[in-house]
Amino acid sequence: EVKGSGRGAACRFVPGMQARAEERRGLERDLAQALDRGELSLAFQPIVEASDERIVGFEALLRWTHPRLGNVPPAKFVPVAEDTGQIGRIGDWVLREACAWAARWPDDIIVSVNLSALQFDDANLPRTIRRALADNRLAASRLELEITESVFLKDRPATTAVIARLKALGVRFALDDFGTGYSSLGYLRKAEFSRIKIDRSFVQRAATDAGESTAIIQAIVSLATSLGMATTAEGTETRAEFEACRALGCGQIQGYLFGRPMPPEDATALVALKVAA
Ligand code: C2E
Ligand code: MG
Ligand code: MG
Ligand code: MG
Repeated sequence: EVKGSGRGAACRFVPGMQARAEERRGLERDLAQALDRGELSLAFQPIVEASDERIVGFEALLRWTHPRLGNVPPAKFVPVAEDTGQIGRIGDWVLREACAWAARWPDDIIVSVNLSALQFDDANLPRTIRRALADNRLAASRLELEITESVFLKDRPATTAVIARLKALGVRFALDDFGTGYSSLGYLRKAEFSRIKIDRSFVQRAATDAGESTAIIQAIVSLATSLGMATTAEGTETRAEFEACRALGCGQIQGYLFGRPMPPEDATALVALKVAA
């Protein structure tokens, strides 16, 4: 007899689903006002060069401080924003805010911004990005856009065209979370990415497993190199992981080892100090 497989278990399941649906409706409702109420902010996580551990950029990561729930992680609210169509407005804000901060950093520090696949449905995306750059007098070469393969899942002919237009401006693209999800090497041809970000699941096993993750990272780096793309190892928490990734040829490293996502003021102070030194 399998415990909990009876009628009672099925009945008990229902209230849980209701609670989840209610929580979800609450998040949808609250998120609709979050931007206007100033509850959204960006955190910036340093990205360092593997060879000398110098900061070369920051990834902008969205934060929501809910008045009652506190910090709601993006893994929880970004999907809500996508399903309700709010990601358009929020995504535009992220782009403008990230560019405004980057404009205060030294010229050789870039900013990396995550784009949702749905933002490619907006025909105004290239214009929004041009404006965010122009309004802040930020060179296009200082903006990198991170997208995942999910961008290509729904075969919108517009997507590759939009990417091409943005690339013509000088904006660069990185393929995020590579090695997870729907990875298909075919996607690498769809857009000429400047960079592949190796998912942290490989990075974090590289120092400990029997060599499978090492082999995968090695293959990704070799693939990237032969296609003229750079690599970043994501989620590097320990020295051992860092050393392993550097030895495997990853050009850039990002992870708690070099810094957690931090308030914009702290990130700005960090690179200001580097310049003064
Ligand atoms: P992502 O783009 O892959 O971002 C990296 C995530 O890994 C971040 O989580 C970051 O805090 C976390 N991370 C960095 N280093 C380490 C480490 O050493 N160890 C561990 N355990 N984690 C590390 P976060 O901020 O919770 O964001 C999660 C995801 O939410 C992002 O994954 C991205 O897909 C999405 N996201 C965040 N901000 C935005 C945004 O502005 N727009 C969109 N569309 N998505 C966003
Ligand atoms: Mg990212
Ligand atoms: Mg990632
Ligand atoms: Mg991710």
